[in-house]
Amino acid sequence: SLLGRFCTGGGAPAPSGSPARDFATLPNARELAEARRLGQRHNLSNPFFQPHDGVAGARTRIAGREMLNFASYNYLGLNGDPRVNLAAAEALALHGSSASASRMVSGERPVHAQLEAALARNYGAEEALVLVSGHATNVSVIGHLLGPDDLVVHDQLIHNSCAEGMRLSGARRVAFPHNDPEAAERALAGARARHKRALLLIEGHYSMDGTVPDLARFRDMARRHDAWLMVDEAHGLGCLGPTGRGVWEAQGVSPDAADIWMGTLSKTLASCGGFIAGSRALVDWLRHTLPGFVYSVGLPPPMAAAAECALRLMEEEPWRVERLQRNTRRFRAALQARGFDTGGSTGGSIVPVILGSSLRAVRLAEKMAAQGINVQPIAFPVVPEGQARLRFFLSSEHEESELDEAAEALGRAAREVAA
Ligand code: PMP
Repeated sequence: SLLGRFCTGGGAPAPSGSPARDFATLPNARELAEARRLGQRHNLSNPFFQPHDGVAGARTRIAGREMLNFASYNYLGLNGDPRVNLAAAEALALHGSSASASRMVSGERPVHAQLEAALARNYGAEEALVLVSGHATNVSVIGHLLGPDDLVVHDQLIHNSCAEGMRLSGARRVAFPHNDPEAAERALAGARARHKRALLLIEGHYSMDGTVPDLARFRDMARRHDAWLMVDEAHGLGCLGPTGRGVWEAQGVSPDAADIWMGTLSKTLASCGGFIAGSRALVDWLRHTLPGFVYSVGLPPPMAAAAECALRLMEEEPWRVERLQRNTRRFRAALQARGFDTGGSTGGSIVPVILGSSLRAVRLAEKMAAQGINVQPIAFPVVPEGQARLRFFLSSEHEESELDEAAEALGRAAREVAA
């Protein structure tokens, strides 16, 4: 967020001479400078880019201070789990820290196929493919799958990585209002015939709002309009469904609902990277032609081993998923009981508190930090002005007393910061 960077210094002054070489004329540079001035004028500290010491989970340490933490994606507490660490350490000892080449050339290690088989199983898919970044996965796959003759109909809140992929593809893009299947169907019906291929693009669990789509409805409409359905499960895996297998499990829908499952290794799976799960035809094509895979290094073996171990632990210890979901329900109810607006969130790990102005959100985050609680404000331009919020990421590791304490602290902070 621009508001977030206001206190990190303005960098070197613009070089005199050619405006074409002046970085301060780049898009958003003026807004960034304005947000920084605003922050200074209101004497706000910068809530962003704060280094944490050690593993950030339900608790963390920032600048030597223990804090309750609601700003990490360590949903099931598996980052820092000794078994995950050991898996990574063993792979490190065996293979070193890098795959040292594209997998196609000489970067393939057995752990890649093991991880992919486990991910494919989770989504009832024939195959899966892992890449070095979740963001890069969406950019590369969507950018590669579609071309200028094609159509992509997507939820308006779709993640930036999907938006970048769509832009790269040159396909015609039509956004529909958040989680509105009727509007999505109108968009498909209106534009499908004029395009060769079509992709319907949604998330399984939206990261800004904690909302969840009606998977069966999107599946049915995709099939009616001869479109692929792609679901970004970055926040679905580990958070939705009785055993964390994702939105399909949560809704009792067969996982073949989606033609393309996408997810990341960086949240529940305590690692770094992205994946696609789907049919053999799709994955085989990607494996041999996808620029972000073919021309990029293989996932570092320790990261692959960590993700594979974390996925196994998710399966073997379903109490983690149950606790995460119980914590989320408890926390959401505690906030609602205090009159906070938690939007449409129903999912298993994300609770937004919609506050209105960006300034109020930043101020409230500051008050929470003063009470030893780390929660991130989400401000304009990431969300529209008037929709600024605090976003709480829950963890299976939070104690119920900590959740009650945080809800209490937010109530106090809100009374101190007038609307
Ligand atoms: N998709 C969604 C919905 C996300 O929220 C994110 C990151 N927060 C990504 C993709 C990118 O994943 P990564 O951070 O693992 O690159």
